Formats: sequence, structure tokens, C-alpha cells
Amino acid sequence: MELYQKTVFELSRLMNSREVSSVEVTQSFLDRIKEVEPHVRAFITHTPSMALETASLVDKKRLNGDNLHPLAGVPLAIKDNISTGGLRTTCASKILENYIPPYDATVFKLIKQVGMPLLGKTNMDEFAMGSSTENSAFFTTRNPWDLEKVPGGSSGGSAVAVSTGMAPLALGSDTGGSIRQPASFCGLYGLRPTYGRVSRYGLIAFASSLDQIGPFAMNPADCALLLELLAGHDPLDSTSYPGKVPGYVSSMEERLDGMKVGVIKHSNEKGFDPEIKDAVTKIANLLEKEGFAIDQVEMPRTDYGLGAYYLIAPSEASSNLGRYDGVRYGFNGGGDNIENMFSRTRGEGFGPEVKRRIMIGTYALSAGYYDAYYLKAMKVRTLIRQDYETAFKKFDILIGPTTPTPAFKIGEKADDPLEMYLSDICNITDALAGVPSLSVPAGMHSNNMPFGLQFTAPPFCEGRLFNVANYIYRNRDPLLPERPPASFRKGGTE
Ligand code: GLN
Repeated sequence: MELYQKTVFELSRLMNSREVSSVEVTQSFLDRIKEVEPHVRAFITHTPSMALETASLVDKKRLNGDNLHPLAGVPLAIKDNISTGGLRTTCASKILENYIPPYDATVFKLIKQVGMPLLGKTNMDEFAMGSSTENSAFFTTRNPWDLEKVPGGSSGGSAVAVSTGMAPLALGSDTGGSIRQPASFCGLYGLRPTYGRVSRYGLIAFASSLDQIGPFAMNPADCALLLELLAGHDPLDSTSYPGKVPGYVSSMEERLDGMKVGVIKHSNEKGFDPEIKDAVTKIANLLEKEGFAIDQVEMPRTDYGLGAYYLIAPSEASSNLGRYDGVRYGFNGGGDNIENMFSRTRGEGFGPEVKRRIMIGTYALSAGYYDAYYLKAMKVRTLIRQDYETAFKKFDILIGPTTPTPAFKIGEKADDPLEMYLSDICNITDALAGVPSLSVPAGMHSNNMPFGLQFTAPPFCEGRLFNVANYIYRNRDPLLPERPPASFRKGGTE
């Protein structure tokens, strides 16, 4: 087995016992990137020399006998909307194509502190608006299980990097599904933490009341370990939670019996793939055997989630993106007067989906429409949150599909924004309620594509998610492939 195929815990153990160095580990991932990247294109920026420099520094510290974090020397990839000081951070937008942030996001600071080598910055939908990476201003990332299909989005590059073994871990951001949906489409674990659990400082804002940074990993323990590093209060983010960070890895050892699981009943499951619906039943049965109490749970306001989200998120975006005017930083379109310059900068710098969101958001916030749209959507958001509060009075954890279907074809929904929005139908309400949610690989579809199921817990109960996910991981079918086939498949069967 090559180093790039090993779990993070195994890599950490090997480095600790000095059987391998971080330089060797990092080189293994860099070699893998050389081999795989031309097929899938997951990275916007590669940082091999930076990675090796960090790795050799960690190796020196280890030889010195320094006390190191378990993640020291373990490389990772970071979504390109997370600020990396001195290193280009584009948000996959022309408007930030040459933007070099002068400071680090708090999560990157933490990563540097423990000595995790950065392999590169990953591709995404422009400003994290999308579900396929097709909205990247630069190129589309391909799904490694079938190169003609999308990897999901907006954190598609990060999901692909981990699922192909180009990185053992990656960071994404989830505003309304952007970690969980690509995790489902690429067959790996992706966590949206509770709103406030991880600092957003330095995450380029899309919709500030919804954005959260979270990890991608190949197994629940690796995912838990990375969250343990990222989570915690940050004085630079006033919405970050001041409470203690529990031991997520150790919480996986807690006993599970007696836990009550609510199977989410979607009122309209017309577009849901029957094989995915079956998988929910199968996993529920498995949990029942383990002594879990299983029952259906209705979330009466779920139907309104998508409508509320597509008013609230664009409203916040229209305000957040007002800062890109060509004056302070980023692309400047030129022009002979200021109005002209603003309109050329924004007209040429933003892609069509970003412009669509800015227009919807500006409209929803404008005088005369605010009450009818934005305010109404915020009221719906409160009702959705109440649905979760009610459900969690009865259940410890909720389960449902992460996505209604496995990955779709590149181009299939690109010209139909509404169809694209509908692919997030299962991810939106968790985000509006601010609760944590983890996508867990749940099997292979008969069309040879992986898909995931989503577990949702009450606020700050991420440990419970890892615990249940680990039970499913240990009981997974050993015959199912964990990684995409080595010979990248083009034009898969339907
Ligand atoms: N696909 C959703 C959107 O386009 C969610 C994106 C995200 O979570 N960043 O808004």
C-alpha cells in the first residue's frame, strides 16, 4: 500500500515512530497529484515547494524531540475561498484572479501552527455559488468515478482531492450544502459543523449567517481529528462559539445503544432516486439491530427551505460582494469615470451565476420588497429552526439522503439554475437551522456512482455524528470500493 492510501491516523503513527518522514509522506501525495490531476483538475494553485518546506521543518522538530500535534506533518488541501496570507486566493473568480491576501484565515493559522503542509488551493464554484464546480471562472473539476460527471459543489475540488488520494484531508465551506453534496457525489466524509463551531475569519464571505468551514476525510476518525483542530472560539469572529471543544475522536468510543434516530420524511420525494431511498431504509435497519430506536420524523416546513435559502443567501451575498469595486483590491476593468469603472469591473469580473445572485438579493432587499421577500424568508427560517428543535426533543439524531440523486452529467443542469438549486434540496434546512450535518458514504448506485446519507445532530453535537458514522464505517461492505477506479472512467453507464 502506498503512503497516499493510508489513513491520517496511520500516517501520524508512522511519522511518530519515525518509520517515515513527513517529507516522504508529502512527496507521496505530490506524486499522486502529478498522476491524477491532469484527469480531474481539482486544484487552482499548486504549492509543492511550500508543502515540502513545512514537511522538512516538521521532520527536524520531530528529530529534536519536540512535542508535536497528531496532525503535524500530515498534508492537506484548502478550498480557494479560505485566505492564505501571501498566497493567491481566487474564490474561482476573475475578480480575485490575482488577489493575494495580506493575512491568514484563522483555520489556516491553526494549520500552520501544527505544521500541516499545504498541497494547494482547490477549485470551486465562483464565490461558492453552485453545486457542480461548473461555475468556476477557470475550469470544471471532474468526478473521478466518471469523468463526464460533476464532482458536486461548491467545494468540488476539495472533495476530489481527498477521494482520489491527492490529499489525505481537505477543507471546504458549506453555506447550503457545499461540503456535504460533493462528499456524497465523490464517496467520502464531509462535515458541515454547527454554525459558530469553526471561525469564519478569513473565509471570503458568501452569506455570512450561513457560511461554515468544515473538513473532508476518508473516514470518520480522520474527519473528527481535523475538526478538533479547527473548532474553537476566535476573538476575530464574533459569531464563533466560546464553549469548550470536546474530544471528537474520543467521543467515538461512547456507547450508542438506546439512541433515537429520526428518519426524515420528505413530503415530496418525487425526484428521489429509489436506490438512495432504499439505502436509507437499509442503514436504518442496521442501526435498529444495534439497539437504536428508529421512527419517522416529519419536518413540515422543509418544503419552504429552498425558497427561503434562495432569498436569504443572495441577499447577504449582494451586500457582501459590494466590496468588489476595483478600487481596493482585485480586478479593475478600467474606464474613464468612476461609474464606468464600477460597471466594467463588476460586469467583467463576476460570472453569470454571481450576477444572478446579486440581482436577486438586491431586489429582495430593496424598499417595498424587503417585507415581502427578505423578511418573510427570515420568518420561514425561524419556523424551520423550530422544526429542528421539536424533532430533537424526540430524537438524538436525524437521517436522510444527502442528495436526491448520484452525481449528474457535466452540462446537464448548467443552463437551468432552478434544476441546479434543486440538487441541494436535502442540504438547505440544516444550514438555515445552523445545526451540524455529516455526509457518510452509503454505497454504490447501480450506475457505479457513490452516494451518501446525511446525519444531522443538535447544535454542537458533532461527536454524536462521528460516533454513528464510525459504527456504519466499521460495518460497511468490504467489497465496495472506497476509492474511484485507478483507470479513470470516461462516459459511465446510466
Ligand atoms: N449550492 C448552494 C448554492 O449555490 C450551496 C452553496 C454552498 O454551500 N456554498 O448556494
